[in-house]
Amino acid sequence: MKPAAMESSKKRLKPTCREVHRLVSEGMDRQLSLVERIRMRLHLMVCGACTRFNGQMALLRRAMHSFPLDGGAPRDPEQKDKP
Ligand SMILES: [Zn+2]
Repeated sequence: MKPAAMESSKKRLKPTCREVHRLVSEGMDRQLSLVERIRMRLHLMVCGACTRFNGQMALLRRAMHSFPLDGGAPRDPEQKDKP
């Protein structure tokens, strides 16, 4: 059996760290499909690096929600002339 064939079949079952990073990032903007979530979960179970990455992204997201950055929110729409 060619090692390359084994590699590709392995890749199907286990997404790479890069793919998981992408899924974690995309999961912030859109709802991941069931398959995507399962693959991500399976990878997170065996990969400490991605588990940390996922945790950091979740933390970042929460931080961004509690401290909204300037730019999105309109600035004082009823601003009146100051004396
Ligand atoms: Zn990983």
